[in-house]
Amino acid sequence: MPSLYIDGTWTGGSAGTAPVINPYDASTICEVDQAGPDDVDRAVAAARTAFDSGPWRATSCGERGEILGRIADLLVRDREEIARSETLDTGKTLVEGRQDVDDVTAVFRYYAGLADKDAGRVVDTGNPDVVSRIVHEPVGVCVLITPWNYPLLQLSWKVAPAIAAGNTMVIKPSEVTPLTSIKLVELCAEAGVPAGVVNILLGTGPDVGAPLTEHADVDMVSFTGGLNTGRSIIRASAETVKRTAVELGGKNPNVVFADTDFELAVDYAMLAVFLHSGQVCSAGARLIIEDSIADDVVDEIVRRAQRIKLGNGLDDGVEVGPLVSAQHLEKIENFVAAARAEGATIRCGGARPDAPELKNGYFYLPTVITDLPQGSELIKEETFGPLLTVERFSTEEEAIRLGNDTEYGLAGAVFTQDMGRANRVANALRHGTVWINDFHPYFPGAEWGGMGRSGNGRELGPTGLAEYQEIKHIWNNTAPEPQRWFSGE
Ligand code: NAD
Repeated sequence: MPSLYIDGTWTGGSAGTAPVINPYDASTICEVDQAGPDDVDRAVAAARTAFDSGPWRATSCGERGEILGRIADLLVRDREEIARSETLDTGKTLVEGRQDVDDVTAVFRYYAGLADKDAGRVVDTGNPDVVSRIVHEPVGVCVLITPWNYPLLQLSWKVAPAIAAGNTMVIKPSEVTPLTSIKLVELCAEAGVPAGVVNILLGTGPDVGAPLTEHADVDMVSFTGGLNTGRSIIRASAETVKRTAVELGGKNPNVVFADTDFELAVDYAMLAVFLHSGQVCSAGARLIIEDSIADDVVDEIVRRAQRIKLGNGLDDGVEVGPLVSAQHLEKIENFVAAARAEGATIRCGGARPDAPELKNGYFYLPTVITDLPQGSELIKEETFGPLLTVERFSTEEEAIRLGNDTEYGLAGAVFTQDMGRANRVANALRHGTVWINDFHPYFPGAEWGGMGRSGNGRELGPTGLAEYQEIKHIWNNTAPEPQRWFSGE
């Protein structure tokens, strides 16, 4: 079946096909069509026409909410198929794949409920003859560009509010993991989204993402991905003054005080960094731990990290899958080589596994690294791999200073039994999300996004809908009187 969807029709692309690779064994899952420049123009034109003159603009927010509800129902129907597809494409475990589909369903249900809840407001001007209204309108044609780590989940944070607000869109998923994005577009069509409203193009960032970002007929770009790509997208959008929302990387601190229960400290520190092999934007890759418990906690993390079961995400009992690609594996190897050159101690991991059944896949052992100098690249840069670094503190002020010692500001956690301290530290950390005694949870109704170089704008929650809305003021003078500014005499 062709894999591009333009103006309500599945179609091939003018740039040939590209393989989709299973990172577990480097086998080819399938070939997908690649969009060329003419496909980019056709998709944007379809979205433009559907926005400017199609029936979509006449739909009420209630009707759009119903469509979102139907998409959620279809996700439930096809849950197992979608979870398996996400596992094959990304290498994550099936348990995580199923969790992703459930989370995506919850996002669609959330925006289905929110779509018709806020039509704007009336402003009291003090003049009874004037009706002053603030109304919400869609932004227009939105380009939605997504990464490979949570392909369907990240896309749902954009598609659901963009539909709720009445926009039209062109989706550009990561070239590494396109399968579940194609599936979501199929479900949108089945749920009754009209032709031209949701389009999907496949291809690389330079070939397809960049021309979409530069396109004069696009009104907004919502992007999730790396910092450098985010910078290019903001630059490319400047020429036509597009709205941009960019969700970028993170280098997230996990601050653990000595009064934390030992088991909790170990367990959450491992969940924070090794979930999905560390390929999580909120990964707690920096363990910042109070000196007095650091040795014991790190020893136990090292012991357990060596027992993590790597393997095929489709197999029962596997705890962690591979990295997503050969290119990403090489990047992780380079980070560790640089740490070695700096004299760091590799407490465990630091290599590919020896097991013969893993030799074709892009696996890397869970790795714990200590004794790094504070300015080290590994402490500053997002690795997006299973690499945990350890920093120590002895006072609350020092813990806060270390937690904020990053140019990013996506997420972080504080572990302590002292709730006064927990709230002081949570308030002081300059990150878009701070968890107290937890790590990683997010919720459709709670905003997600970063400070600093982690991006701008927010996804999820009411603000995630507002990203896709223009605010208009309509001033209605119901009893106009001549003003006589200019007498005409
Ligand atoms: P990436 O920046 O390499 O690619 C992301 C997307 O951008 C892909 O679809 C890619 O094809 C496209 N792209 C690349 N160059 C482009 C260009 N010049 N113009 C337009 N589009 C272009 O990121 P990745 O490696 O796919 O994903 C990993 C990154 O995503 C990490 O940095 C991670 O932190 C980040 N991420 C952030 C969040 C968040 O919520 N903040 C969530 C998930 C992932």
